[in-house]
Amino acid sequence: MKLVRVTMATHLRRDFDYILPDTIATPALGARVRVPFGTRNMIAIVIGFPEETTIAPEKLRPVSEVLDQHALFDNKLDQLLKWASNYYHYNLGDVYFQMLPALLRQGEPDQHRPAKGWHITESGKERLAQLNQSTKAPKQRVALKLLEKSKAPFPHHEWEVHNISTAMLRNLRQQDWIRETTISPEPVDWRKNFGLKQEPPKLNQQQAIAVAAITHRSQPFTAYLLEGVTGSGKTEVYLQVLEPILNAGRQALILVPEIGLTPQTIARFRQRFNAPIAVLHSALNDRQRLDAWLDARTGEAAIIIGTRSALFTPLKNPGIIIIDEEHDPSLKQQDTFRYHARDVALMRAKLQSIPIVLGTATPSLETLQNALSNRYQHLRLTQRAGNAQPAQCELIDIRHQPLRSGLCSQLIESIRHTLEQGQQVMLFLNRRGYAPAMLCHECGEVIECPRCERFYTYHQNPAHLACHHCGSQRAIPKQCHHCGSTELVTTGIGTEQLEQQISELFPDHSVARIDRDSTRTKGSLDRLLNAIQNQHHHILIGTQMLAKGHHFPNVTLVAIIDIDNALFSSDFRAAERLAQLFIQVSGRAGRANLPGKVLLQTHHPEHELLQDLVNNGYEHFAKFALKERQLTQLPPFCHQVLIRFEGNDLQKLKQFAGELEHQGNQYNHEHRCFVFPVIESPIPKRAGKIRMQQLLQASHRQPLHQLIHRLITWLEVAPSAKRIRWSVDIDPIDML
Ligand code: ADP
Ligand code: ZN
Ligand code: ZN
Repeated sequence: MKLVRVTMATHLRRDFDYILPDTIATPALGARVRVPFGTRNMIAIVIGFPEETTIAPEKLRPVSEVLDQHALFDNKLDQLLKWASNYYHYNLGDVYFQMLPALLRQGEPDQHRPAKGWHITESGKERLAQLNQSTKAPKQRVALKLLEKSKAPFPHHEWEVHNISTAMLRNLRQQDWIRETTISPEPVDWRKNFGLKQEPPKLNQQQAIAVAAITHRSQPFTAYLLEGVTGSGKTEVYLQVLEPILNAGRQALILVPEIGLTPQTIARFRQRFNAPIAVLHSALNDRQRLDAWLDARTGEAAIIIGTRSALFTPLKNPGIIIIDEEHDPSLKQQDTFRYHARDVALMRAKLQSIPIVLGTATPSLETLQNALSNRYQHLRLTQRAGNAQPAQCELIDIRHQPLRSGLCSQLIESIRHTLEQGQQVMLFLNRRGYAPAMLCHECGEVIECPRCERFYTYHQNPAHLACHHCGSQRAIPKQCHHCGSTELVTTGIGTEQLEQQISELFPDHSVARIDRDSTRTKGSLDRLLNAIQNQHHHILIGTQMLAKGHHFPNVTLVAIIDIDNALFSSDFRAAERLAQLFIQVSGRAGRANLPGKVLLQTHHPEHELLQDLVNNGYEHFAKFALKERQLTQLPPFCHQVLIRFEGNDLQKLKQFAGELEHQGNQYNHEHRCFVFPVIESPIPKRAGKIRMQQLLQASHRQPLHQLIHRLITWLEVAPSAKRIRWSVDIDPIDML
């Protein structure tokens, strides 16, 4: 009797054994099989062929079908996924299924679907000859003629171009004048005619040093921090590093924070290289996504650009990994499999013996510490490329100043002045919606989401209240539910309101607003970005979506309307985040020949963090912040694991919390870890659930991972953990 061991997406951290019937050919390790599981059939991945099993013989069930004869991806990628499953304490089957394209998860073959095309039959040719003699059925004649002229089978989508209906096709086929055949296009190997489509600019000295360091490294695997101020030409460094790699026939994997926000960057890769680029953006359908994945696996795609999850794309000839904006929190997945793409990418580069470049203007403190301790090579670009000068930065003290639409008069004057020069203005406000709260003018009651106990945000277009924590929405109430008053008013300003009021202040200038609400429909973000590029809008209002990576050469004034409440957060990472945001937003000003200016409104102009950033810049701030982290023994000078849990019943949660603390202390051998008490989470309630958390911390990873391993083993069977949703976050980057 032959046994197969498989893993599948069950969220249970265990494998399953099945019998392989004689009638079924043995699959390879890493191939998909279909197996019965409970009353269902599931797709599973083969991970072994054990000699024996602990399952009782009468309980063993046979594999129903083998889907692949070969492994779905190469051994190195497989090793990476196993490492990640282990490191993040997340079930291997779920890791596999998260990285696979949807169609493969559903059991589709791991092949391109052969394209279909049409050709003309012998009787079709006779028909065409007849039609050529007459004036009858002119459309039919056009269609048949197209087919007769076409050397290869005529592809489906071309019919539309020629205005030929499917009804017509059906008719022609019924008459057996045309037939459908499979097209198998010869794959064109991009390596054969690889080249540059465009002459690259001459690098400045710092860029040249960076490119040379990466290209002429002594070790195949080397990690680089490319720290370059905004507009210093990091992208140009990527491009020139890529050239010899592609030239050698190897592939590049590039991770960016958000595809929708980086069309200009992607366009630069397309304009530079005569090589196929697979862009994994969210608008792809499942078939297109699988095709891109397959092209990467066969080596047909030279460059693969995508967000976080693109990291797991198989590569035939990996040559380099580039992570742009390595500090960006979107690199960390915040639910289910909570991996950090930057950290996993480093492991991937190591396993595949290739270089990895982490580019940013504002390195995360983790990465900076790695560079300072020489684990990464630190490359610096300190000047803006081309003629651009660094922007001038100024704090505006708005204490005791009258504000119009949230703006002080000095700022309004600066906007007016900039617009008069024919230049663009960017206003940054990280709060979408019309107003962050609605309250009763008579009794002061603020309207809250009952499931989260947080204020609703007032949205005007269309009018509704939305909870930004759980996503729930409700109609605008007519009366205060507390005192019955009908005088309900909004308080505070969001981007919707700022847009409206700015339009009134500057009626002659067009305003564009970029936030999650204004870009919800497909293509709207692209259209807005294009319109901004083409100077259709002079005033740009946005949340942090507008801060990331854009290059708008005509923006010379950037104003930060309100970041005061971020100055007093309890999260130890808040200062780092704020500093990064501030530098990124400021980086949008004066990126080309025109000098830029950054104005920041604040009630706390004397605040240390703001003073440091304005006067000394990010690097100074970051080094100081690292010292502080070291003194207080916080990451990156220690390691953390966060256990989050939530449920409906406070009593049950408390009992569970007590047991969790007890187990934590018991498993904490030699007290090598800090087992903190369970506390309520910073968002203590969400969508009706009560939320709590426990932090574990240690100066070395190993005892911490041993502890969490034991705790998870306990959690999976503990009776008190039933009906409680818990999750484990290794190296958490926020405590929410
Ligand atoms: P970053 O990625 O650091 O923000 P970019 O690579 O986008 O910077 O460069 C900013 C601008 O400077 C772009 O318009 C780019 O084309 C230009 N640039 C970059 N390097 C050079 C160079 N060596 N010579 C001239 N212009 C350059
Ligand atoms: Zn009231
Ligand atoms: Zn809510």
